Amino acid sequence: MLDDIGDVEGKRVLVRVDLNIPMQDGAVSDDTRLRATLPTVTELADKGAIVLLLAHFGRPKGARRPDMSLALVTRPYEHVLGRPVRFIDDCCGDGAKEAVATLAPGDVAILENTRFHAGEEKNDPALAAAMAELGDFYVNDAFSAAHRAHASTEGIAHLLPAYAGRAMAAELKALEAALGNPERPVAAVVGGAKVSTKLDVLGHLVGKVDHLIIGGGMANTFLAARGVDIGKSLAERDLAASAEAILGAADNAGCTVHLPYDVVVAKEFAANPPSLRTINVHEVAPDEMILDIGPAAVEALADVLKTCPTLVWNGPLGAFETPPFDAATVALARTAAALTQEGSLISVAGGGDTVAALNQAGVAADFTFVSTAGGAFLEWMEGKPLPGVEALKTD
Ligand code: ADP
Ligand code: MG
Repeated sequence: MLDDIGDVEGKRVLVRVDLNIPMQDGAVSDDTRLRATLPTVTELADKGAIVLLLAHFGRPKGARRPDMSLALVTRPYEHVLGRPVRFIDDCCGDGAKEAVATLAPGDVAILENTRFHAGEEKNDPALAAAMAELGDFYVNDAFSAAHRAHASTEGIAHLLPAYAGRAMAAELKALEAALGNPERPVAAVVGGAKVSTKLDVLGHLVGKVDHLIIGGGMANTFLAARGVDIGKSLAERDLAASAEAILGAADNAGCTVHLPYDVVVAKEFAANPPSLRTINVHEVAPDEMILDIGPAAVEALADVLKTCPTLVWNGPLGAFETPPFDAATVALARTAAALTQEGSLISVAGGGDTVAALNQAGVAADFTFVSTAGGAFLEWMEGKPLPGVEALKTD
């Protein structure tokens, strides 16, 4: 924890952050990740630390690529931070050391893309040691990179006194409240296109939660495995055995699995198609596909949420990008948001499309915590230890 770092006046603090922002024509298209660094960076700078930001940008694969230089992010970052930011054109070595030596207490600098060194993604101890030479302390504030054991996320944490930054700590606290040591009963919503991408998530959750709500294309795979005729719905019919195994494991663990009993179908996948029908799940015609779960199912699921103090959500319940197949996702998200605002639910959500769907529903800010960490969030949902987090716990 950053609270334990002590006096940092005049000390060099290496802070691993996520500056891997989307850019279009030289402009930042979404500065969420830049803003997420502000609590930690301003706190350290205000305490008189020399703040040295370590980050990757794109996938340069060990080469120096001008189009992936963090020099491109320095001005936008300066703008978000509201104070001057220096750029140092390497994350280790003599040149970087000399540049760091010219900085004063309270200064902030961005060091060049860690992935310009091949050793970064290999977690090369020599690179970790070379980066560590630039600092007196190490702070990791990049949860989104914590599922990778890289030199700047894992190796270096063993070489300097290491702490979790404010954004990292907030993310870990929310995740702990949702699945680590949650108030029961716990509900999980898992949706999305495919079972195959989330087999490990489902396998982990059945042993952790009391209600597993399955929606999206992956519900079709479960329905098909159960012998329900799902017409030409998107499904992975070859995964019937995996789906059955998950249902069996849920049964053994006392986890109730909720599959939809009414669904929204159409003959073609288009916005507001003329063939749209809301039907019982057993009435799907051979030329129809399931594109959302139905209103009766949503109502039943809302009642489940009302009995649960904890919810974790990954994956939309339907093909939410195309109206009206966002209806179930939006409705259940609004219920979860309202329960959260009333103080009866801790709601934690994550996943690229899930975040987009919650924004579409206008409720992202009403959830307890919405993770934008992508891969790291999913690996956490799979119950995997995250190397960047584990490294902060030891020594
Ligand atoms: P996340 O990014 O939140 O982890 P996924 O990538 O697993 O979520 O899944 C999101 C995708 O699943 C969306 O593009 C959505 O359109 C699709 N999807 C959900 N339900 C269905 C369905 N019934 N048929 C086809 N696609 C679906
Ligand atoms: Mg996705």
